Formats: sequence, structure tokens, C-alpha cells
Amino acid sequence: MTDANDDSGTILVTGGAGYIGAHISHALASSGRRVAVLDDLSTGTADRLPDGVPFVEGDVGDARVVSAVLGDLGVTSVIHIAAKKQVGESVARPLWYYRQNVTAMATLLECCVDAGVDRFLFSSSAATYGMATDGLISEDTPAQPINPYGESKLIGEWLLADVARSAGLSYAALRYFNVAGAATPELGDPGVFNLIPMVFDALTRGEAPRIFGADWPTPDGTCIRDYVHIADLADAHICALDALAAGSGGSGGGAEVNGLVLNVGTGEGSSVQEVIDAIGRVLGRPVGAQVVARRPGDPAALVAKVDRIADVLGWTASRNLDDMVASAWEGWVALHPEAASLAT
Ligand code: UDP
Repeated sequence: MTDANDDSGTILVTGGAGYIGAHISHALASSGRRVAVLDDLSTGTADRLPDGVPFVEGDVGDARVVSAVLGDLGVTSVIHIAAKKQVGESVARPLWYYRQNVTAMATLLECCVDAGVDRFLFSSSAATYGMATDGLISEDTPAQPINPYGESKLIGEWLLADVARSAGLSYAALRYFNVAGAATPELGDPGVFNLIPMVFDALTRGEAPRIFGADWPTPDGTCIRDYVHIADLADAHICALDALAAGSGGSGGGAEVNGLVLNVGTGEGSSVQEVIDAIGRVLGRPVGAQVVARRPGDPAALVAKVDRIADVLGWTASRNLDDMVASAWEGWVALHPEAASLAT
């Protein structure tokens, strides 16, 4: 297999100053790859970037900026992370989501084709599956997103597939399940939009965390998700890029990766109650939660089937829920030092 280190080109990470993008930028840089970041700093911060990595503050939908970056930095691969990702916000502002996640991506792709970029890795989401049923969700499960965020990610996949086919660009789309944790405390999630940070936030404010419904058709009645450690997710991007650079299957020696949609998860589900119990283990004391009404639009269970990514990339997640929660807590305390005393 060709190693991506053999490629003399630069890997551009869009959104590389955000929670997920910064992890990927760090993982690439520390493995010796040449990385550059384009980020508009709308949610990211420049202090998250690895030292010495070229950084351009700008919008992926701005063709002049993107073309200059691609040309000046000799970009041969793009990892496209920059996007809006809050479901509720997407329902309230659908056109804004389409503009940010679809129109801007079309501009980025156009610039990539014009500049002769070879490879494109797209950050997609399990939100493309929508309410998709119980059991494990394979990439062949019909994508039926139920909100503008999920729709914008699915359209992004279609855009990419069509453009790649016509332009000879190799590509893959990674559908992230529930990303959590931190590779180092400084890279912790600054947002309070997902279960683990929301529980930490409630505890820090002296309140009981909320469980959105305990009457779901699951063993303990709370919703089940597939939580994947962000350090594992970052590794998956490196494997995918290497496999694209090699022009065929990755270290798993499986099928051709070009053109594939791949789930990124662990294949194991954890319930909301199990996550709260894991938080209790990390804090060294039980965490009492209050059960409130179901949240509209939540599926009961979303767990990835992960055979395809294991087969074509040779990648499987290696970190468990306790690793995620413990590292997320360290990241939370780095941002909220007043919370440190909650752990015994
Ligand atoms: N959840 C919860 N309480 C919270 C936040 C989330 O019970 O304060 C539940 C939510 O209903 C879902 C799971 O935790 O079942 C994961 O939610 P999150 O928003 O993190 O990710 P999603 O799977 O919705 O993308």
C-alpha cells in the first residue's frame, strides 16, 4: 500500500480549527503528513491548531480564497469538515444550512476540480439515515434524513459522487455516529450540544442531568446510540486517506475504497442511562438524572454496522465508552476549571 507520506502534496482540512477538524489536523500533523487548515473561525479557534500548520481564515464557499489556498499550498487531498451541524438550528434556518453545507460545498468542489485535487474525504453523518429502525444500520440501509441537517449531508454525498465521477476525483464519505471524548484535554468539545457535555453542564450548574424519555423500546427504556471516540475517528480519516492514495483497499486488503460511503462507529450501542452510569464511574460518585419527556425526532436506537469500514480500511475503534467519558471530562475541566471539584 502506498503511504500518504509518499505523496508530496498538502492535505487541506476545512474546518480544521473546530472540535473534530482540530483532532484530525493534529493526528495528520503528528503522523508526519503535510497539513494546512482553512476555517472561518465561526465555531473553531486558532489556538486548537497544531504548531506550524499553515492556517487561512476564510470561508469554504468563497471561491477566490479556496482557489488561492489550493494553488498556493499545493493541495492534493481535501478533508472537508467545515459545516453547520446542529439539528434544531437546521430546522429553524433551513436555507442557511443549505447555503453553508451544500452551496459552499459545491463551490469547494468546483475549485478542487479546477485545481486538480486528487482526493476528497467528506465528513458525513448518521443523520443521513433518519429514523432508521432498530438493529444495526449498514450503509445499504436507505438514507431517509428527517431534518435539514441530515438532508444537507446526504446532498453533500450526492454532489461529491457526481462531481468525482465526472472529474476523476477519488473520494469517500464517512458517516459519523456519536462522536465523543478528546485526544488531549486542550482539544475537548467546547460545544454543549450533545449528551456527554450536556450532562457535564447540568452537573456544573448544580442541576440534575435530563434523560429525554425512559419509555423507549430498549432494555432500560432510554435511547441507544453508538458513541465513537474522537481519536478513533481521526485515525479512521488517516486510514481512509491512505487507502485513497493507494488507489485501492486499505490495510484490510478488502474492496476498493474509492466512491464508498463508510459508517464510523463501534458497532456497540450504549443507552443514555449507561452513559450517565459511565459518567458516575469517572466522577467517582453516582449521578442522579431526571427523566423528562422524549425529545421530538429522536430515534430509539442508532448503532452502526461497521463491517464495511473494517473490511476496506482495516479500521476498527479501539477505545471504549469509559475512555470517551474520562477524556471528555478532562476536556470539560480544562474549559470549566470550577467543575473539577465534582469528581471525588
Ligand atoms: N439526550 C438526553 N439528555 C440530554 C441530551 C441528550 O437524554 O441532555 C439523549 C438524546 O435524546 C439521544 C442521546 O442522548 O437519545 C444522544 O443525543 P445527542 O444529542 O448527543 O446525539 P444525537 O444522537 O441526537 O445526534
